[in-house]
Amino acid sequence: VVLRDAAQRQGAPTDLAETLAAIVGTTQVLSDPSVVESFTTDWTRRFQGPARLVVRPADTAAVAAVIKACSEARVGVVIQGGNTGLVGGSVPAAHPGLEGPPVLLSTSRLDSIGPVDTVASQVTAGAGATLAALQRAARAAGLEFPVDLGARDSATIGGMIATNAGGVHVIRYGGTRAQVVGVEAALADGQVVSRLGGLVKDNTGYDLSQLLVGSEGTLGVVTAARLRLVPHMAERAVLLLGLASTAAVTELVAHLRGHLSGLSAAEIFYREGMELVCRHSGLTPPWPEASEVYLLIECSGRTSPLEEMLEALSDLEVDDAATAVATDSSGIERLWSYRERHTESVSAIGVPHKLDVTLPLGVLGEFEPAVRRRVEEVAPGSTAILWGHVGDGNIHVNVVGPGPEDERVDSAVLELVAGLGGSISAEHGIGRAKTAWLGLSRSEAEIAAMRAIKTALDPEGILNPGVLLP
Ligand SMILES: Cc1cc2nc3c(=O)[nH]c(=O)nc-3n(C[C@H](O)[C@H](O)[C@H](O)COP(=O)(O)OP(=O)(O)OC[C@H]3O[C@@H](n4cnc5c(N)ncnc54)[C@H](O)[C@@H]3O)c2cc1C
Repeated sequence: VVLRDAAQRQGAPTDLAETLAAIVGTTQVLSDPSVVESFTTDWTRRFQGPARLVVRPADTAAVAAVIKACSEARVGVVIQGGNTGLVGGSVPAAHPGLEGPPVLLSTSRLDSIGPVDTVASQVTAGAGATLAALQRAARAAGLEFPVDLGARDSATIGGMIATNAGGVHVIRYGGTRAQVVGVEAALADGQVVSRLGGLVKDNTGYDLSQLLVGSEGTLGVVTAARLRLVPHMAERAVLLLGLASTAAVTELVAHLRGHLSGLSAAEIFYREGMELVCRHSGLTPPWPEASEVYLLIECSGRTSPLEEMLEALSDLEVDDAATAVATDSSGIERLWSYRERHTESVSAIGVPHKLDVTLPLGVLGEFEPAVRRRVEEVAPGSTAILWGHVGDGNIHVNVVGPGPEDERVDSAVLELVAGLGGSISAEHGIGRAKTAWLGLSRSEAEIAAMRAIKTALDPEGILNPGVLLP
């Protein structure tokens, strides 16, 4: 009765709520408005939209049945994993042509992690398993899942596949795409495609698994994945350096790339970010006089990564007064906190416009001062905090000040990026935040091809309506 009432209130076909309850069980269809609301705002608080109910299937067959039922009712389905994506893709957006508000499909119960296959160095994980849970499972078997990011306790494997998440180790191991051996997914018509057999070589036509990687939930719901694992590196060393400019950082990173085989992370942040993080989290700065730019580098290996790192730096002039090093886990964690606590610290001062962009490494030195000038021109008095995975040319431009609906700063930054030969999304995806600017990074022919794929696999446009394609 509660379900029927909720559905009627939302103008939904009553029998859809009942059909979904018959598939997943009544307790896994959440329709209380205050509960549904807790799913419909994204991590940044910039994006939200109404959902008629939340459904939590526990296996692939149930996911497929839910999608089929929604497709038959011409009701949109918004897919949500950990809801840590920063471009609004995991919460409802506009859905022209569909019936009423969408159903929000949460993958939280698809959280199984299979036994680690130490012969193939692979594991099968459910889409709703968190990155941290997968990392723990791999480590317990003496291996590592090589993608790592600050949202590890909430971000899910399905969300990471859907966004092709990058993270801090792309410089060494590649992003999520490089770790995917095969994907299982439910398509818009309720059919299931499954490539979980673990074959590393399998040239039998279109690679549907890789097509789903980075598709942001617009082509299918990922239900599980077969993933590659790498050897565990017993030794780690982290060095934090203070430098004078972004150009000095990129020169140093270019040198390290060629001389440091164990280089596993190269992260950049700036004076204002360090000050904000220390203020927000109570951390003590690493050295008394703040530096303009900070470069954090991590090197890992089976033996002596610190020696390897120091040797690679030995030809260069490094200011000892602006250097901190750690090789033990608590010291490493402390140095990483300066970088990892940026995201939460920025959110503590307002609702940020998050512009995750990538540029050719050699252009970053020019981009950084230029983007600060441009932000000040279009949003005077706003706060711009920059950081990123500098080894990949990836900078996160965060602007706090303009209202959530004011897109002038987004336009200005993304146009600047495109003009300098960069991409408007490095690793977070397009979501609903950047659909209007997709044409800055993709040609008309590419967008038409993407649209043709979307139409072929999801002719009614029920999966993640309003996400990715303008
Ligand atoms: C503190 C912090 C640090 C971060 N650091 C990084 C970083 O270093 N690198 C990086 O790349 N990102 C980073 N992110 C962004 C985010 O963690 C990633 O994009 C992550 O992949 C999102 O996973 P999720 O489970 O939270 O997905 P959600 O936010 O729930 O969803 C993201 C998108 O994927 C879709 N989706 C989710 N699950 C599925 C599924 N099973 N099938 C199909 N589609 C699905 C959603 O509909 C949505 O479009 C960070 C975020 C935070 C808050």
